[in-house]
Amino acid sequence: MASHIVLTSHPRGSGGKQVSAVNWGAASAAARGPLVAGLAEPARRNVIGTHSGSYAVYRALAVAAGNLQRDHRPDLTNTVPAAHIGPHPQWGEPGRIVSLDPWGHRVAQEFAAEIAAGMDIRPTIAVTTAHINMPELRDAIEAGRLVPDGDILEASGDVRVTKAAIDPVWYLPGVAERFGIAEHALRRALFEQTGGMFPELVTRPDLKVFLPPIGGMTLYFFGDVSLLGRPETRVACRVHDECNGSDVFGSDICTCRPYLAHGIEVCVEMAQQGGVGVVIYNRKEGRALGEVTKFLVYNARKRQRGGDRAETYFERTECVAGVQDMRFQELMPDVFHWLGITRIDRWASMSNMKHGALTAAGIQVVEQVAIPDALIPADARVEMDAKVAAGYFTPVAPPSVTELALAKGRGLHA
Ligand SMILES: [Zn+2]
Repeated sequence: MASHIVLTSHPRGSGGKQVSAVNWGAASAAARGPLVAGLAEPARRNVIGTHSGSYAVYRALAVAAGNLQRDHRPDLTNTVPAAHIGPHPQWGEPGRIVSLDPWGHRVAQEFAAEIAAGMDIRPTIAVTTAHINMPELRDAIEAGRLVPDGDILEASGDVRVTKAAIDPVWYLPGVAERFGIAEHALRRALFEQTGGMFPELVTRPDLKVFLPPIGGMTLYFFGDVSLLGRPETRVACRVHDECNGSDVFGSDICTCRPYLAHGIEVCVEMAQQGGVGVVIYNRKEGRALGEVTKFLVYNARKRQRGGDRAETYFERTECVAGVQDMRFQELMPDVFHWLGITRIDRWASMSNMKHGALTAAGIQVVEQVAIPDALIPADARVEMDAKVAAGYFTPVAPPSVTELALAKGRGLHA
């Protein structure tokens, strides 16, 4: 085990080992080339950052504590995807996908020879199967909105799903282009705002791919995944941004879990009709501001003079965070290109920003499905009114100015 520290901030002699070029957006995995982020051989690395996003810090702790060999490599035996996804034509269209590696789930197959020859190449996507069961789906069965079919949906409420976990992989020139900014400006901001965690962002302009230390996304598929990419396949979809308080703990201040459950219901229905349902769950807690900021905003909303109301909903967030929202939907359509989806027949979301991003990316949204009013918790009216007033999709008239000024949220100790 080497005891010296190897800096990766400047190119070094390769010591006979070839650093493979990355031809992002190439039509085949072989032409694109492997992404090498392994730390054991710094000279072979052709990306900035390491695998597993923010979990890299736990890996560091495990190594420091002596529980993990610093040069451990995963044994990928039997880990290949449980369902076929792609390749789709979009994978080889320049600029289509810039925030994930379309070949990320096929690494063990596509680069088998390189891995066997000793290169450290790891999957950034994993695809498996599962059964899920949520009380809301059992309610939907009881209310007669969903009918068990014994295949996709059991009478017990069990739903058969395929799911995929995706770590972000950013092609920096493509990300910069998506935001209409210069690559060097993006690299500099990333370097500075991470406290200098990744010097290569500014010292290695030759390295174009970055594994950002952020959460990725989880996809839940309902129905036959292999039907995706065919023009005749009908698709239902919910793009959901993480809200731990509501999604997991059932907090009633927002509509997140009710909307997620409703989205799943729409997806199950579509699968039962022979189409495919997809729920895309993004790890962007609290509009990508994080839970600490989110809870500070809750306090500011509830303590403000006049009480918690829709007219100041976005203002309170901006006071604490400096922005109303940090989710930036510009990169969101990438996953649809990865899945070969060009049309969404039923879209279970009210967000005009998400809708706009999809349309701008050339993905057609046929029908926008609003959440039934009966599924919205009383305390979440503040959020719903504020969003509808700000341009969110609604099948009914948006709330009036007087309506928005009414305190509808409960107080801090109510
Ligand atoms: Zn929420």
